[in-house]
Amino acid sequence: MKRVIFFSIFTLMTVAFTKAQDATIRAATEVNDNENPFFSEWATTFGVPPFEKIKNEHYIPAFTKGIQEHNQEIAAIIKNPASPDFKNTMAAYDNSGKLLEKVSSVFFSLNGANTNPEMQNIAKKLSPLLSKHNDDVNLNQKLFKRVKMIYANRGKVKYDPDQLRLIEETYKNFIRGGAGLDSAGKAKLRELNKEISLLQLTFGQNLLAENNEYKMVIDKKEDLAGLPQDVITTAAEAANADAATKGKWVFTLQNPSVMPFLQFSDSRELREKIFTAYINRCNNNDAKDNKMLVEKLVKLRREKANLMGFKSFAAFMLDDRMAKTPANVYDLLNQVWTPALAMAKHEKDDMQQLINQSGGKFELMGWDWRYYSEKVRKTRFNLGEEMVKPYFKLENVRDGIFYVANKLYGITFTLVKNAPTYYPGVQLYECHDRDGSLLGVVYMDFHPRAGKRGGAWCGSYRSQSYKDGKRVPPVMTMVMNFSPPTADKPALLTADEVETFFHEFGHNLAGLFRNVRFDGIGSVPRDFVELPSQINEHWAFEPEVLKVYARHYITGEVIPQDIVEKIVKSGKFGEGFKSTEYLAASFLDMDFHTLPQEAEKSDILKFEDESMNRIGLIKQIPPRYRSTYFQHSMTGGYTAGYYSYIWAEVLDADAFEAFKETGNIFDQATATRFRKDILEKGGSEDAMQMYLDFRGKKPSINALLENRGLK
Ligand SMILES: [Zn+2]
Repeated sequence: MKRVIFFSIFTLMTVAFTKAQDATIRAATEVNDNENPFFSEWATTFGVPPFEKIKNEHYIPAFTKGIQEHNQEIAAIIKNPASPDFKNTMAAYDNSGKLLEKVSSVFFSLNGANTNPEMQNIAKKLSPLLSKHNDDVNLNQKLFKRVKMIYANRGKVKYDPDQLRLIEETYKNFIRGGAGLDSAGKAKLRELNKEISLLQLTFGQNLLAENNEYKMVIDKKEDLAGLPQDVITTAAEAANADAATKGKWVFTLQNPSVMPFLQFSDSRELREKIFTAYINRCNNNDAKDNKMLVEKLVKLRREKANLMGFKSFAAFMLDDRMAKTPANVYDLLNQVWTPALAMAKHEKDDMQQLINQSGGKFELMGWDWRYYSEKVRKTRFNLGEEMVKPYFKLENVRDGIFYVANKLYGITFTLVKNAPTYYPGVQLYECHDRDGSLLGVVYMDFHPRAGKRGGAWCGSYRSQSYKDGKRVPPVMTMVMNFSPPTADKPALLTADEVETFFHEFGHNLAGLFRNVRFDGIGSVPRDFVELPSQINEHWAFEPEVLKVYARHYITGEVIPQDIVEKIVKSGKFGEGFKSTEYLAASFLDMDFHTLPQEAEKSDILKFEDESMNRIGLIKQIPPRYRSTYFQHSMTGGYTAGYYSYIWAEVLDADAFEAFKETGNIFDQATATRFRKDILEKGGSEDAMQMYLDFRGKKPSINALLENRGLK
């Protein structure tokens, strides 16, 4: 199901900036100019960042200079005595800020994938600078005046469709950035933006620190009962990495550690212990506690929305998305919620029955869910996670993903040897189109480590662009937190991880295929962004695809037919839980951001409880993310936007039907349409229009309900 994706390729890096820097920053600029890798062209293979040359001390000077250059470019646009036209204003503005974009892409990608305390400090210093720069650009009256003139006269000039789209999107972004406010409003907006961006950043840093700090140390072998051998081996290796725990076993709050523990450990007491820690991340009344930050964020965002003329922050955010209004979002969530909750209750009853039958005299609780769910699955389908994992060796899954992309779109992936990377084991692949031309390259970074944020995401070090009329191929990156290899076994993925891999690769395909002339129309609305990723998941467990990639990691034997049948049969098992925990978090995110001022609460946990009680969530299922670790909602990427996964699922389920209706999941005509009408287009057209072009009709929710077994 829909995963822990924190941000995807289309998340715009805040590219913004300012004239006033403090003295330390200015001094630093002058020292390193000559050797600062951000100040020269990169002569690396495919123009990837020269990671080994980039040092922490290069960032602030590069950001500073990037901001200066951007300001100079904008000043030149404004000073142009010629009356504003597409070339001297729209295209010039679209082309500005390249250095800032270059350093932003590298810094923010690495700060997610491979951070350290020094980078986190830099991020904190940058936050107000970038927030200010962003506002300086958005609130620049002279620049806006030129944009507005072109926009107002757009009907009188003959433009190409993508030029017209750029004019409309740019104008809209200025308005949404506050260009239409009076001077008091502008001053207030600057203040709000500055505070919000710092709070968002701190929220994420607290969560990373909390995830890294927690360890559950086990020193008695009997406490490992029920755990599969590779889970035990990984825990032993984690313990041996630290002298204080040598010879013991360590479990952490990272998903590859905590999830199998909850799924397999026979110790109810220890399951409760780690589960309780997991659902109380950043809720321990210490320096890393996020409750106050959530309260402030929700309040400031509401104030910002009011300032912009909207009743709530959700209304402000949705105005720019496919969903348009909070009512439309709630409507969809409610449609899926009722059958999902009913199914989850049914699952709960099945598990309680199993507990009762085996003489357990206790009520099923949250820390029991994954454990008994696994037992019911084994009983009902004779299929356990451990039977499947040997067929999901990471390298085999990766090759399966390449195979699917090749069959659909004719593209090929080849490992780039000795490519510059930022961490050992990170791989780079080049991707060529059917005709041999280079589409782009992609980094793949697979396993957890302390400097990596949780979850999985896809981004870019350089997004696709055009330079002098030629397409510049993108440098994409996929970052995951998959089960690591052990000393005696390769990395074997769970079914969930396989799905996540296909998901992120779908984002990557959208980035590789993108072919737009202007940066300003490169990104799609947040609730459309999951269509390319989620549709790609549909191929993961199709029997004809499994037979290609799911090979036993020792014998190489193709996955046996009876296991494939069991996978297909058990496909919807556990869907009540998955849908419910996801939807509960979506409701929570919306509830926080639709609050009118008079209803604002200072007790965040009480608010969360009330929100969950309103929808009737059962106590055994916490929302997929609780408020204090709800990164999607609180750090900005998916604010009032966590619903996007289910919104896009209406589209992806319906779009996959288009393939199935032809009787061939690799139908070439359908794949070509999907590529041309959707993947290549970025944000150069209205999202619903692109979908209609592809499908020929509006999406229906039926395929989604059927896929989830909710119909
Ligand atoms: Zn995604």
